[in-house]
Amino acid sequence: MSTSTATTAGTTDTGRAADAAPRRYDHWIAGRWQPPAEGSYLPTTNPATREPGDEVAAGSAADVAAAVAAAAAAWPGWAARPAAERSDVLHAVADVLAAHIDELTELELAATGKVPAQLKVEIDMSVAYFRYYAGVLRATHGRTIDLGAGVHAYTRLEPYGVIGVITPWNLPLNQAARSLAPALAAGNAVVAKPSEFTSTSTLHLARLASAAGLPDGLLNVVTGTGPAVGTPIAAHPKVRRVMFTGSVATGRHLARLAGERLIPVTMELGGKSPIVVFADADLDRAAAAAATAVAFNAGQVCSATTRLLVEDSAHDEVVARVVERLEALRPGVDFGPIITEAQFDKVLAMLADAERAGLRPVSGGSAYPDGPAAAGRYIRPTLYADVAPDQPLARQEVFGPVLVTRRFTGEDGAVAAANDTDYGLAASVWSGDAARGLRVAERIDAGQVAVNGGPLTVETPFGGYKDSGFGREKGLEALHEYAQVKTISLALG
Ligand code: NAD
Repeated sequence: MSTSTATTAGTTDTGRAADAAPRRYDHWIAGRWQPPAEGSYLPTTNPATREPGDEVAAGSAADVAAAVAAAAAAWPGWAARPAAERSDVLHAVADVLAAHIDELTELELAATGKVPAQLKVEIDMSVAYFRYYAGVLRATHGRTIDLGAGVHAYTRLEPYGVIGVITPWNLPLNQAARSLAPALAAGNAVVAKPSEFTSTSTLHLARLASAAGLPDGLLNVVTGTGPAVGTPIAAHPKVRRVMFTGSVATGRHLARLAGERLIPVTMELGGKSPIVVFADADLDRAAAAAATAVAFNAGQVCSATTRLLVEDSAHDEVVARVVERLEALRPGVDFGPIITEAQFDKVLAMLADAERAGLRPVSGGSAYPDGPAAAGRYIRPTLYADVAPDQPLARQEVFGPVLVTRRFTGEDGAVAAANDTDYGLAASVWSGDAARGLRVAERIDAGQVAVNGGPLTVETPFGGYKDSGFGREKGLEALHEYAQVKTISLALG
């Protein structure tokens, strides 16, 4: 942690793109940059090169208190405005974000080292969240309840007030936007805490939202570590709901805290999702989907389908096709690095444990020994075939570019293998028989299942079964997560 007093990026309104030198970022509180109460900053590094990156404010409970006070003052006025007005402001936020895509891309690139195609998907989707919730806001209301003549009973969707949003480092801007847009749409104010490794894009989202006309104090970003900032957010008496995206361990901690306070939480946690391939599937498309699960963000996706379950008769053929695709993937071109050093070490430790347990990768299985990829945190796309279901590699989330395969026979065997996990975030099913695809999809314990590559978008609800969490993001469902229902009943006579 550094405590020097160099000029902060917060003193200018220019984005990082104007100057690639590392910068120092303050918090964004009450519509302006505010230095951390304790005067300290955290370093970051570029995962693609390990060179020093931007510094972000090391927040503390005092900074959280300032942000919550700003949020508490801001939300009643916002909530009182007609939905159409809030919608107009959120459309303006989307417009300003869209006009600054290059700047946001530059920031996200510096913090994550992601490849351009990946960044484009994530940042376009971040803008789309604001457009979508700006739209649905105008068409989502309470309802009237018919209690007979002489009674007028109706419901209202009311905001919680101040909502804490705590997000991880793998899809930083995207996951922030996914929560912020519906939270603001529903009339709340937010105190957001991005991961300390990847904070700058969320800070700039808040700055751009202010520039677009979002009233001061509605969107505050306090940066810093989980214990120093995340826990004080969840513990603050004026924070009435918490949205958490991250690991199961942190989720349990925050859920306990929320339980003590009797406030609701949404938990978007980890996964070990299956991709189920029947022998009658389009094997090439299924193999491409399996390879994408490790190439997309180098497997650092909570919903990545990293358990490749293949009908026995097609197993070897599918493995051969997937391996061919994995071996064609180029680091820094087709896939990015592991974003944090700790995660890089964790993935390699899991591979070393697998080696000690006698597992041998069909492809990959290590970092790059030399060349440009060795300077960054790149791990070779990896596949282990026929991994016994009790092996840690078959059960634990790796959060890296690692696939494991397992054979099954028949529909019941497919469902049993798919559900043989503590998690339940997502699944993918491939079959030439669409009815079988749907039958299997309905029997898998997961929040979303794609059959034959069906798309999952901003409009489709997203969330976990089992240890993958509870509550829903995306779609109309998310708007309801951020609003509470009030019933009002009037006797007319
Ligand atoms: P993490 O739990 O370590 O951190 C997530 C966030 O919580 C960060 O902002 C972190 O600073 C904060 N945090 C950490 N400790 C805290 C504490 N004691 N109190 C309060 N806040 C704390 O997770 P990560 O390593 O950043 O992210 C990887 C994990 O996130 C993976 O397990 C992945 O599956 C999961 N994830 C889930 C989703 C989803 O939508 N379901 C999306 C992305 C990532």
